[in-house]
Amino acid sequence: MKQCFIVIALIVIPHFLLAQSPAEKAKEYQIQQEQFKKAQLMREIDSGKYFLEIGEYELADKKLKYALDNIKSVPSELAYFFGKNSYFLKKYKQSVDWLTKYIQLKGTSGQYYQDAVAVLQKAENNLLAQKKVETAQIAEVLSQNYDIDCGPSGKVICPVCKGSTVIIKAGIFGNSYKTCTYCDKHGLLSCENYNKLIRGELTEQ
Ligand SMILES: [Zn+2]
Repeated sequence: MKQCFIVIALIVIPHFLLAQSPAEKAKEYQIQQEQFKKAQLMREIDSGKYFLEIGEYELADKKLKYALDNIKSVPSELAYFFGKNSYFLKKYKQSVDWLTKYIQLKGTSGQYYQDAVAVLQKAENNLLAQKKVETAQIAEVLSQNYDIDCGPSGKVICPVCKGSTVIIKAGIFGNSYKTCTYCDKHGLLSCENYNKLIRGELTEQ
């Protein structure tokens, strides 16, 4: 207890002795606040790291994201933890981005270098696979993969001759005219043939 008082006295007394101007006091207060905030953010990073280790990736993401949004400049280890956690959340692009940043910042001497490279490699592979799937999904929604309902008439104006039944070809000796072989004499296509045509499956009749 006695020692405690001495310690407190040693801390408190200089404050009485040093007559601070209001500006100095304000500055000191500001510095204290910043240190307090930084310590708080470091604790957020630590719990983020802990949640990452025990596989609670959503929770880890919350903690690390909070630190990212509030910290003045991002420490390299935060880049590593956030990048690694993003990998487990299947956010591969984000993972590649932050892990690359970490490796750029720390080089081969970084504490987490080996692991960062290993996770980055996996994230890149998965990102590539993800892009392939996305491309396939985009291709799937093209209209040619669907049967188009042509409406109650069941007929569509021939897109080849635009319903004129005549195909005009421009040649060196003037235009040549040919009867359209895709549609009927009215310049119409049946719905079945229309769907075949847009898939490139309709042969000239
Ligand atoms: Zn036609």
